[in-house]
Amino acid sequence: MIDSHAHIFASEFDVDRNDVIERAKKEGVKKIILVGFSSKTNEQAYALAKMDSFFYPTCGLHPSEVDDGFEEEIKKLEEFIKKNKVYAVGECGLDYYWDTSYKEQQKEAFRRQIELSIKYDLPLIIHCRDAIQDTYDILKDYEKAYGVMHCYSGSYEMAKEFIKLGFCISLGGPVTFKNAKEPKRVAENIPLEYLLIETDSPYLAPTPYRGKRNESSFVKYTLEEIAKIRNIEIKELEKILDSNTIKLFKLED
Ligand SMILES: [Zn+2]
Repeated sequence: MIDSHAHIFASEFDVDRNDVIERAKKEGVKKIILVGFSSKTNEQAYALAKMDSFFYPTCGLHPSEVDDGFEEEIKKLEEFIKKNKVYAVGECGLDYYWDTSYKEQQKEAFRRQIELSIKYDLPLIIHCRDAIQDTYDILKDYEKAYGVMHCYSGSYEMAKEFIKLGFCISLGGPVTFKNAKEPKRVAENIPLEYLLIETDSPYLAPTPYRGKRNESSFVKYTLEEIAKIRNIEIKELEKILDSNTIKLFKLED
């Protein structure tokens, strides 16, 4: 298994980070993408990744981190990409759920990161909350953009549109929730070559840990749920998802 989106550098793991990493390995997680979302966390992800070849760091500016100072942050981001080996730009995108006061700045910061991803030929990791139409409208302006819709929560119909634009769809813990109709419908119908899985830990823990701190070893619950929905062997699904992730992020095998 590969956890295609985790934040193990987060302070939630300060007390037992090594145990969390060991548990992930024991449960069969082979690689983890460590996703940065601000200048501070980009550094943290990179520093942690340096300690173990099992980690692959990314860097980005999350929409909830965007305010009037975003130009400076984007400059720093490009410097970071030039200086360090990273595997994606992001997470970036739009989030109108928490705060809409910087909508225009969020859109501009998103465009700038898409342009960076194209300039440095890196996949994008896209965060989208309550902003699916704007996210789509911006992405469709960039023919060369590619990447993943992380922890996708939209409809199956929109998922197909994102695939047409060159994006994969990543499902996380919510697909295991009983009432998660849409994620289950996406899991059931999406062509498997466009599917990825993730934890987004420490957030969004799957059933049976819903509401608790999430960790990479729990990615197996998401894998198992999707295998059940698709009526496919867990091992077979695992192989497909691993190879999708390796291909998208150009990971060393
Ligand atoms: Zn995340």
